[in-house]
Amino acid sequence: MTAMVILPDIEEARRRIAGHVLRTPLLRSQALSLQSDAPVFLKLENHQTTGSFKLRGATNAILCLSEEERSRGLVTASTGNHGRAVAHAGKALGARATICLSALVPANKVEAIRSLGADVRIVGRSQDDAMREVKRLVSEEGMSFVPPFDDARVIAGQGTIGLEIADDPWDVALVLVPLSGGGLASGVAAAIKGRRPKARVIGISMELGAAMAASLAAGAPVEVDEIETLADSLGGGIGLDNRLTFAMCRDLLDDVILLTEDELATGVRHAATVEGETVEGAGAVGIAALLAGKVKPEGPTAIVVSGGNIDPAVHRKIVDDIKTGVA
Ligand SMILES: *Cc1c(COP(=O)(O)O)cnc(C)c1O
Repeated sequence: MTAMVILPDIEEARRRIAGHVLRTPLLRSQALSLQSDAPVFLKLENHQTTGSFKLRGATNAILCLSEEERSRGLVTASTGNHGRAVAHAGKALGARATICLSALVPANKVEAIRSLGADVRIVGRSQDDAMREVKRLVSEEGMSFVPPFDDARVIAGQGTIGLEIADDPWDVALVLVPLSGGGLASGVAAAIKGRRPKARVIGISMELGAAMAASLAAGAPVEVDEIETLADSLGGGIGLDNRLTFAMCRDLLDDVILLTEDELATGVRHAATVEGETVEGAGAVGIAALLAGKVKPEGPTAIVVSGGNIDPAVHRKIVDDIKTGVA
């Protein structure tokens, strides 16, 4: 029997994190509805505190720790949205957060994490070096690791997005969700399948270095080369020792779609110029898939717009339709 996060876990997570994270807006897109001939709604996690949905899972995981575990401090190794979420939630919940970074991380990102009150440790020259330091701090100093995706508490937290979508009275037929390590897709799919069993859930990644898509195709977790992409928040592996998200994505997702860099840029540009939303590459994949004609809605459709933390200079170039040089 495969371990799974199920609807009651997600409902419990929702009660636990209420008051700590925002219930983000679900807005109808006139342009995408017209083009798809079906009502299309955007679930705007770019408006979530810290600029991405990652705060939901991080907050749920930290609230599940005992007082004693929290007092020993939190630790993780992400430079991106998860690191920012752990730093923010740690500060909000009164737990010391240590974020391990390699020396290659740009100074502005280091400063952003430090400004949230986190203790930043610069170690080695790669993400692997930073993870080794996390493991050392867990084993030698007893700190509590807050994993980025392959964790039942994190998956349940991300799944609260699916509950918020399913709560709305229209009968959602299709949910489009960004896919990387699969914490978001697993949680959202578990919530949607629990509440709206007939709805389809499709995961979307970039063509360049999509570890979950490659693993699902291979029938087991595999490693892929990490390649620079506009969807930078979707990079990275799923772990060869993956415990939960591989099986949940295999069992719950109806399909996985891959997008080119041009299609991603078109999604980011549409979000800015038509919807008036600043969305990062990873957050724009659902919009991009619709615009590229790679998914055909057959009823009310919800797109999870997962985050908005894009470099302003890169964003400006995309909006002005100048080649970015990213990938
Ligand atoms: C982390 C992240 C994702 C992917 O989430 P997983 O749980 O790793 O699949 C998608 N979009 C944004 C903006 C993210 O930060």
